[in-house]
Parts: sequence; C-alpha cells; structure tokens
Amino acid sequence: MDREWFEKDFYAELGVPKTASAAEIKKAYRKLAQEFHPDANPGNSDAEERFKEISHAYSVLSDEESRKQYDQAKELYASGGGFGPGPGPGGGFQVEDLGDLLGGLGGLGDLFGGARRTTTRPIQGEHLYSTVNLAFTEAVSGTTATVAVDGDTVCRTCSGSGAEPGTAMATCPRCQGSGSIAAGQGMFSISQTCDVCHGTGRVVTTPCHTCGGRGTEQRVRSIKVRIPAGVRNGATIRVPGKGAPGRNGGPPGDLHVRVNVGNHPLFKRRKNDLRITVPVTFTEAALGADITVPTLDGRVRLRVPPGSDSGKTFRIKGKGVPGKNRTGDLLATIEVAVPDAVDDETRRLLEELKSHEPADVRSHLGVS
Ligand SMILES: [Zn+2]
Ligand SMILES: [Zn+2]
Repeated sequence: MDREWFEKDFYAELGVPKTASAAEIKKAYRKLAQEFHPDANPGNSDAEERFKEISHAYSVLSDEESRKQYDQAKELYASGGGFGPGPGPGGGFQVEDLGDLLGGLGGLGDLFGGARRTTTRPIQGEHLYSTVNLAFTEAVSGTTATVAVDGDTVCRTCSGSGAEPGTAMATCPRCQGSGSIAAGQGMFSISQTCDVCHGTGRVVTTPCHTCGGRGTEQRVRSIKVRIPAGVRNGATIRVPGKGAPGRNGGPPGDLHVRVNVGNHPLFKRRKNDLRITVPVTFTEAALGADITVPTLDGRVRLRVPPGSDSGKTFRIKGKGVPGKNRTGDLLATIEVAVPDAVDDETRRLLEELKSHEPADVRSHLGVS
C-alpha cells in the first residue's frame, strides 16, 4: 500500500463522509471531475492539480477491495499503530494493537491470547466531513460560517456518560474498581487497563435510553467555523476536535469542511490575483485617458496611455485577494468598445479618420 494512504484523506478530497455509498462516491467524483477537468479550466494549474487528486482518490475508493484496505490502513494509522508519527495517542505498537491488526487483516488474532480482545486503549473519534457554500466576497474577506455537520456526537440525554440520568454507577465487577487487571501468566503477567470499565473503575447500571449506553448519538449539529480571508474554492478547513467523540477516553476526531466559492459578476480569481475586463472607447485607447476601475474595496483611477491596444492588461498592485505571503493584484484588461450604429455626424468623422489611417495594417500577415 502507498505511504500516501496514511497522509491523504481521499474522502475529504471527494467531499463525502467515510460512510458514503459507492453511488454517492461516484456522484461526488463526477461532479468534481466536471468542475476541475482540464478542458473546462485551460491553463489553470490549480484545477489540474485538483483534478489529479480527485481522480486518484476516486481510483482508490471506487474499488471495493482497495477501499477496504485503505479504510483499514487509515484506522491503523489513526490508532497510533501505523508507521511514522501517527496523530493518535500512544504511537507505536503494543501487544494488543498487533492483535487488533492481525485480527482485522487476517483473523490471526487467536495467536495472541485466545479470542480477540476488545481494545482498551483510548481511541480518537472519527473525523467528520461537511461542505460550506460561500459568496465570492465572503471567501475574499473571510467570515464565520454556520456549517451543518452530520455524525456521531455526545449524547444529549446522558452527556456522554452512557448512564440513564438519575441512575447510579456501580463498582466494576471485573476489576473491583481498581481500573486495571492482570493479564498473561507467570513472569509475563502484566497489568493492563480493565476492558469492562476502560479504567474508570465504575460501570453503568442502567444504560441511557437514547444512546443505549454508548454515550454518543448521531444527529445533525450546527457548528460555527471561522473561514480565513482569501480561502480558495475547493480548500478544506480542518477544525480540530469537532469530529465524533473518542472512545475509552480518547480525543474527539476533527471536522473537515470543504469550501465551495461562488462566482463574482465582475471579477475572476486566479490564486490571489483578480481579473476584470474594462471597456474603453476607441478614442480613450488612442488618445489615452484616466478611467475609473472598480475593485473589491472601492474604486481606483487607472491611467490608460495613448496608443493602448485592446486587450492590454494593467496590473493594479495590492487590489487582489489577501494571502498569507502577499496580497494579490487586480489585473485590468481594457477592451475597445466599438459602436454598432452611428449617426450621420459620427459617420462623417469616422470616414475622415479613415482617410488618415495606415494603408494596410495587415501587411505582416502576407495577405495584402
Ligand atoms: Zn446517552
Ligand atoms: Zn473495571
């Protein structure tokens, strides 16, 4: 398996939850592939990069077998038993991890102390995924967005304890309240966390009627997420600790929010630069003019020098999108607006102008 399996989140790249069906994955892929296809974004290297990532993520998740392997690899990594510095607690192998790993991959868990043991280590909660739609200007200036998140969260009835409110907790019958038990035999005997009470020494007598004692319930929450200024379309914002609650005292997972940015009627964005097309008259382009150009925060004056060709682009410094390293520029491209109907006087003046024009402006094309 690829090392990048541990580093990349293919579900986040497709903007689907881990529980998505094959059909949902396919649908999400088609939509993104259309949006970021190189044919639809000529010359846009950002889009091309995204397209490659999306395609790769889909190639792994669309195949049932490789998706299963990927999920197992991710789970192993998240629980700290993977290679390299895992984000989970513990890090590195413990005997019980190995049992879990082998049990999960090949049913060899029996080799390690009989039946597969329930893991008692703290386990980080699942990461949850959501998307948010932003207006163009919200993405540029940053905002606080309310994001709907569907997934496991702390049970509201029992506040996560798993016990029906008003009922008492009892001393754990397995460890007699000590929280740990002896495992193994003779000189190999080690003390390990009690697998019944997960080290708390106490157990629930009456499970919560909402969550059945799990301490978590699935529902849709509204979470406020701070969107940094200059966020790009397709970016993912990670909100630590806003995923599903952890198990056995483990930390909660993270929330990953995919950002969809809408278009602007005047401006187009490329990285942190903005582009705008500004119509000018023929005489403004020929004689030069001071014109007014809109920006995202007010307007600026732009000096068009005499003899400016249609299509000429002017860079207006610092009027683009704010970024970490530099604020982008506004690129204003002038476009000579040609009147399609003229009155008699204008026509007479244009005819006179025509008599002063160069004999052939197309001589270099070899067609004169
Ligand atoms: Zn509950
Ligand atoms: Zn116990």
